[in-house]
Amino acid sequence: MDIKQFVAQEKLILKSKVEGLKIRPSLLIIQVNDDPASASYIKGKLKDAAEVGFNAKHLKLDESTTTVQLLSEIIKANDDPLIHGIIVQLPLPKHINEEQIKLAVIPSKDVDGFHPLTHFTPCTPGGIIDFLRANNTVFVGKNALVIGRSNIVGKPMARLLLDQNATVTVAHSKTSKEQLDKLLLDADIIIAAVGRPNFIKDQQLKKSAIIIDVGINRVDNVLVGDVYPNLDVTLQTPVPGGVGLLTRLKLIKNLWEAYNNGI
Ligand code: NAD
Repeated sequence: MDIKQFVAQEKLILKSKVEGLKIRPSLLIIQVNDDPASASYIKGKLKDAAEVGFNAKHLKLDESTTTVQLLSEIIKANDDPLIHGIIVQLPLPKHINEEQIKLAVIPSKDVDGFHPLTHFTPCTPGGIIDFLRANNTVFVGKNALVIGRSNIVGKPMARLLLDQNATVTVAHSKTSKEQLDKLLLDADIIIAAVGRPNFIKDQQLKKSAIIIDVGINRVDNVLVGDVYPNLDVTLQTPVPGGVGLLTRLKLIKNLWEAYNNGI
């Protein structure tokens, strides 16, 4: 099953569950930046929510909003029983303390999965695992290589792969090229989350490898992944139309879970 089929199927399931509900799952997206990429991600999230029959509200605040003003909006939403999930779109303007904001969202409504006590799986790694599981991926006895160690992708990804009993290695900016080449040669599942266009291209890989390309890089106004397209492997997710869709799907699945936990 490819990503588009998987996402369409999961959305239909969600839609059928929501039909007829008096109170619908409801998401609040708070945006403080004027970043065009964020605006496009938010548009996608609003579209997904509408498609499955969820409510989603976009609160656009001025870039000059202070940490205290933003905190007060979050506290209002934390206390509102008709809001089930809250997202604060990143990045935030430099004058706002991002860590403080992430901690302000109540864990039971933290559908992005950013709070240390969150009730939810972070959307990108969680969406990837859901997709791999739906494709009956074998994890036990396999070498999974995560390239990147960010708090929102690499680290939670490694933990989720461990939960599936894969043997997990994490490569990062201090991993040498020689080390990485060796690790790639042995990897059965490769998760590329580096943020460098075509970072994997000429290295030797197993033909049986599965490559999940998380990277989103803009090159001459075209979106490209961290992995050169159509390598000779068993499965490689495209960019665009790949992990981004899985991330968006996991968000609405988390919102559904938040709604059910709250009633
Ligand atoms: P980040 O910049 O926070 O992390 C990048 C990671 O790459 C770092 O941990 C760093 O150690 C590692 N790295 C850098 N150079 C390396 C090298 N030479 N060898 C090995 N590792 C190296 O980025 P992020 O937030 O984790 O995002 C990574 C990419 O994924 C970006 O392109 C981002 O836009 C994209 N992304 C996509 C989605 C999606 O839904 N598709 C979601 C989140 C992030």
